[in-house]
Amino acid sequence: MYFDHAATSPLLPSVREGLLGELSHNGWGNPSSVHQSGRRASRLVEEAREEVAKALGADSRRVTFLSGATEANHAAILSWGRWAASMGKRSILANPLEHPSVMGALRELERRGHHLIWAGVGDHGAVTGGCWEDSLEDVGFAVCMAANNETGAIQPWQEWRRLGESRQIPVHVDATQWIGKWSHRDDLSGVGSFALSGHKLGAPTGVGVLVQEGPVTSEGWLGEGPQERGRRGGTENLLGILGLGMAVRSIHATGGHDMATYIVNELTQRGLAVPTIPAPHRIPGILHLRLPVRADLVVQRLDLQGISVSSGSACSSGSVKPSPVLLAMGWSPEDARKGLRISLGWTNTQEECVELVQVLAEVLEDLQGL
Ligand code: PMP
Repeated sequence: MYFDHAATSPLLPSVREGLLGELSHNGWGNPSSVHQSGRRASRLVEEAREEVAKALGADSRRVTFLSGATEANHAAILSWGRWAASMGKRSILANPLEHPSVMGALRELERRGHHLIWAGVGDHGAVTGGCWEDSLEDVGFAVCMAANNETGAIQPWQEWRRLGESRQIPVHVDATQWIGKWSHRDDLSGVGSFALSGHKLGAPTGVGVLVQEGPVTSEGWLGEGPQERGRRGGTENLLGILGLGMAVRSIHATGGHDMATYIVNELTQRGLAVPTIPAPHRIPGILHLRLPVRADLVVQRLDLQGISVSSGSACSSGSVKPSPVLLAMGWSPEDARKGLRISLGWTNTQEECVELVQVLAEVLEDLQGL
């Protein structure tokens, strides 16, 4: 039973079928080649771009395919940084709860002389807009994710977009855990740029999209290759892009809302877990819980029983580090090791949720020696 859709979502059946169909007939071609196979590949890429643009309500000329949200975040933030510097602006408003791909790009800009102004963390795992009240003369752009990948907490990106629009400060939004994961299709127009990742939507891994408005779109960020209108060098990931084009046709709510509510109610009533973010403040598919025991132990025990969940902690060289996101939310390092993420998606059923609760309750009672 797979409850880790925030890490990656299994290929949608429609995507699998579509790609198998493509592979059995063709499945290759360099979109830059001028002969027939190249022209066909190029046409398929452009059709996928139109599909993605339509699903996102974006102008297809602003849609760039790249290797995933990590690259999309880097590309956007580094190019906004160059643009801001060219305007003599060195400060960036930033959300301290961002994904490491955003943090990495921001730190790189810091090394290049930019100044990061961190937003404060308020209630329900979301940042506040307080940093917008300071003097913004030196601020070139802002960065605010749509929903947090670990806790599911909805971030005030719409408020930041409004504040940015009225002050002519572009906002980059990492929408990786938002698009296709939320009960209504939200319009991301008006943000400076946004990133998404194919494998969170049931497309293959290794493909993502950056939608970018404004003046930075003409700057190349990966070599001098002519692909993607000179914006991103390297032969296109044909199958990944086709899979993404197929997946966005099925963008819909995860339907995880009722199931997540059931899981959280059952566990809290039994006194086995405390929800980190209350329902209206989190996206439906991500449920983060504070357990009475270390979450990595629970993850291992569930895995032995064929259930995949996540502790949301970075595990490096054998040591489990407390999550920087939970630490930024004021959790102690000890508590931060007790955070468990259950993330739901298109594969999950109510029966699976009943079984998850049952097994999880047994594991927690066992680990507590009850
Ligand atoms: N941003 C967020 C919020 C994410 O959850 C992820 C995936 N963990 C990424 C960026 C990176 O996506 P990708 O795997 O496509 O590089």
